[in-house]
Amino acid sequence: MRKPVIAGNWKMYKLIAEAVQTVAELKPLVAAVTHCEIVVAPPFTALWAVAQRLEGSNIQLAAQDVCEMNGFGARTGEISALMLRDVGCRYVIIGHSERRQFYGETDELVRRKIGAALEAGLNPIVCVGETLQEREAGMAEVIVKRQVEAALSGLHPEEVARLLIAYEPVWAIGTGHTASPEQAQTMHAYIRQRVAALVGEKVADGLRILYGGSVRPENIRALMTEPDIDGALVGGASLDPRSFSEIVHYF
Ligand code: PEP
Repeated sequence: MRKPVIAGNWKMYKLIAEAVQTVAELKPLVAAVTHCEIVVAPPFTALWAVAQRLEGSNIQLAAQDVCEMNGFGARTGEISALMLRDVGCRYVIIGHSERRQFYGETDELVRRKIGAALEAGLNPIVCVGETLQEREAGMAEVIVKRQVEAALSGLHPEEVARLLIAYEPVWAIGTGHTASPEQAQTMHAYIRQRVAALVGEKVADGLRILYGGSVRPENIRALMTEPDIDGALVGGASLDPRSFSEIVHYF
């Protein structure tokens, strides 16, 4: 039985005070939740303050990115997985399409970041997904297959078991155009099949595959009824504690 995960990606929003206020409001709204894991990913600058506020709660902390080199070193401007563990993160988002698109992150760099995160004991949330152009060209599965295979290359099955995959069609992110539950289900089933081919059915059956792309309180329920959708990575609608809490209470 896969425990669903509802994760909020705050992107480059919220100063420290607002971030702390958001979790202060969110905590009581979700305090009784046991049916899913709840994760928030504030910007780096707010991680420590938010971590203090989350102590003893049922909300887990994630970062939005990580350096491909673990530990310490001469990497000006970067933050290592060890540092993310130190600040209280359990998860880290890796390979978000905004990083691939605006910062030139390649499949190869994404794979190295996954390695660094695993080495430090973090659970990577690995983002994959095709652009509108790629979907219209009939290439959606080819692109996602390439991204999944690159992300998993050389990993042991036990390492893959620690990953979460987020299928985020780029055309659905921040656009208000969510994938239909059927479109998302088809791709999630395909991803699970690919993972099974790479590391075996057992790990694939246990792997949580989240959907991301304009998830809202109004559309989460239909998405969550699909058998291979194990949760959501939520951008815009996670910024408001009430709408995020409604998504968490998706049933
Ligand atoms: C995201 O940033 O991962 C995302 C899915 O954003 P939104 O929910 O705003 O589309």
